Amino acid sequence: MKNNRTSLVRPDTLPDSASYPVVTPLQPAVVYGSDTPDMLDAQYEGGLSGYTYSREGHPNGDVVAARIDRMEGATHLGVVTSSGMAAVSAVLIGLMTSGDHVLGGNQLYGRSLRLMAEDLPRLGIETSLADPTDAVAFAAAIQPNTKLILLEAVSNPTLRVADLKGIAKLAKEKGILLAIDNTFTTPHALKPYDLGADIIIHSVTKLLAGHSDVMLGYVSAKDPALLDRIRIFTVTTGMVGSPFDCWLAERGMLSFDLRYARTQETAAKLADHLAQLSGVIRVLYPGREDHPEHARAMQLLGGQGCNMVSFEIAPTRAAANALARAAEGIQFAPTLGDIGTTLSHPASSSHRALTPERRAALGISEGFFRVSVGLEDPDALCEVFSRAVAASTEV
Ligand SMILES: *Cc1c(COP(=O)(O)O)cnc(C)c1O
Repeated sequence: MKNNRTSLVRPDTLPDSASYPVVTPLQPAVVYGSDTPDMLDAQYEGGLSGYTYSREGHPNGDVVAARIDRMEGATHLGVVTSSGMAAVSAVLIGLMTSGDHVLGGNQLYGRSLRLMAEDLPRLGIETSLADPTDAVAFAAAIQPNTKLILLEAVSNPTLRVADLKGIAKLAKEKGILLAIDNTFTTPHALKPYDLGADIIIHSVTKLLAGHSDVMLGYVSAKDPALLDRIRIFTVTTGMVGSPFDCWLAERGMLSFDLRYARTQETAAKLADHLAQLSGVIRVLYPGREDHPEHARAMQLLGGQGCNMVSFEIAPTRAAANALARAAEGIQFAPTLGDIGTTLSHPASSSHRALTPERRAALGISEGFFRVSVGLEDPDALCEVFSRAVAASTEV
């Protein structure tokens, strides 16, 4: 750091230390000083590395990006954004042009669906949706102007598994960009680049950061020119994540592997437990043999399930209220990936804007619940759900 001799306000350099901090320092500076205009020139031209203004990048953001890059097998430094939706928006709005067509999975994250239904058309970008569990049906939805396909491997909240291999092959044959939102599956269960994806998106807010105290997103693209366009768009539109949020996310990610392994193991156990309770009509978990795409899930996710379990009880609001009330110690909250187990009820939250008929078509009744499994003791968790399901049968 330059010794700031002439400044009347700013302090001088940090004290010297022969040792170094074991924790990544938090760098909240918005602006970075240079010694001379020549040095600043060299920085902009790429001759010298360094930061200038934090909307264009900062150390804590790059630390997070590099960590996710390693997990995803990305070879170029990814872009960290202020939220998962900023990442989705940067890809769709930053790369598409009026007249292009975007094809999405029909059970994408709710806000991604809204972006495609409301905002892209306003900009002259056409959009449509198709069922990604069926590559043949999906192929039929491709248009001559289709430029990008957006998919999630495992849908929310019905946990259907997309035919990613089939669709990736299709996208390659037709020269269409394939973007995978890997939030649910995480690099632990799915490596989109190995399957032929061109772009990877994450809501870091969820499992990667894992503590429900930071909102952040991430984008990577295989082609550095494409990645550059995405990065420039995020800088221009101010989608940068704050250094403190990046610092928190990095702290959360240090335990990601352990959290994922543990919660997935508990989720498998909870799914089996729920399936044998008399008040449960059906359980959806990719790791179970009764899941509609079990074989595909096993192959695609390398034998892993995921930390999400969905299940259905009697399809009445009274039964749903009784279950939520009796699920003591389980947060009834519409998020996922937290260290604590959360319970969500799509009919009253994420899917409330849909008509009951549209919800029914997706398989979401009043009795449909989604569980994001956390780090609780597995037996204690199963017990809570036994009591909650029992309560739902008594209304
Ligand atoms: C939550 C989520 C998003 C959006 O992320 P935010 O950080 O909440 O903006 C996008 N995709 C998926 C699959 C998600 O679960």
